[in-house]
Amino acid sequence: MKKRVIAYKKFSPALTARLQEAAELIYVDVTGTHGLAPLEDALPDAHGLIGSSVKLNAELLDKAPHLEAIASVSVGYDNYDLDYLTRRCILLCNTPDVLTETVADTAFALILSTARRVVELANYVKAGDWQASLGEPLFGSDVHGKTLGIVGMGRIGSAIARRGHFGFGMTILYNSHSPKPDIEREFAAQYRSLDQLLSEADFICVTVPLSPETTRLIGAREFALLKPESFFINISRGKVVDEKALIDALQKQQFKGAGLDVFEKEPLPADSPLLNLPNVVATPHIGSATHGTREGMARCAVDNLLAALSGKRPPDLVNREAWERRSQ
Ligand code: NAP
Repeated sequence: MKKRVIAYKKFSPALTARLQEAAELIYVDVTGTHGLAPLEDALPDAHGLIGSSVKLNAELLDKAPHLEAIASVSVGYDNYDLDYLTRRCILLCNTPDVLTETVADTAFALILSTARRVVELANYVKAGDWQASLGEPLFGSDVHGKTLGIVGMGRIGSAIARRGHFGFGMTILYNSHSPKPDIEREFAAQYRSLDQLLSEADFICVTVPLSPETTRLIGAREFALLKPESFFINISRGKVVDEKALIDALQKQQFKGAGLDVFEKEPLPADSPLLNLPNVVATPHIGSATHGTREGMARCAVDNLLAALSGKRPPDLVNREAWERRSQ
């Protein structure tokens, strides 16, 4: 008998066909007025789950007694309770690597658009305000040759560092759990404490995963360390930043501007003060959102799930301990 897979995200016809060939596939729509209810109803018979952007906590997953594996269509796995999954020997898989370069492109789009005021000035042209050659009040800041500080030098952080070093001649500073000698050699990158990095960099780019340790890693004390001419970019998760403190610092013009792809609450509420700040470029969590990369991530998630359900170790296993406990 085929195992039952619940997809809480739509897949392309080719990937849907692959899932249907190997499993009994049920699609549930969690974006409608009933919220997670269709997913909850399907959980009692589920062997596998595949999707993204839904918090699958213990209370919800207790309703899935036969669950063997979850394939998240994302690299971040802050929507899952790892200890709980491991305890139950449920394999959790993510989609690293396939999105790294696309997310680094997005980070650079935010760096360039904040520094050169691209969105603000494009709107100025569209509004018909371009009547004469621009004066100094509308000038931007240079990116090339400046200092780029990366908080979290992992896959995405190093792809951003590569762009900064080779493409824009930037000096690279970074902070991570551990020093990265290869990255230091490759991009002439220099390790700094978080406080040192925040006070030295012209562009600060946050690329850490969300965890209890990184929740509100950057708050009022940290924003006070930024140079007045610097820019703050967050491409990781909204909760890594104390958003109230960020808004306060921006309103007081403690630093020059912010490029934000992620927010404490998503979608960003229409009354967020961030939307009224001209020195903020806000994008709707589009880090990996290109046709090619999203399809690549979905393919990767399908590969992971089908491997797990057929008893093979999935290529991108997050909780290795669950696999080891299962094999005992
Ligand atoms: P990764 O390769 O695991 O890199 C994360 C890095 O953060 C690691 O190098 C780690 O350091 C470092 N780190 C962890 N906690 C830290 C802390 N407290 N202080 C300083 N550094 C810390 O992950 P990735 O593939 O680059 O992805 C990073 C995150 O980006 C994801 O978890 C996700 O939340 C986010 N993301 C966002 C989007 C988007 O659409 N905006 C898309 C994809 C990913 P060590 O190596 O020293 O342990």
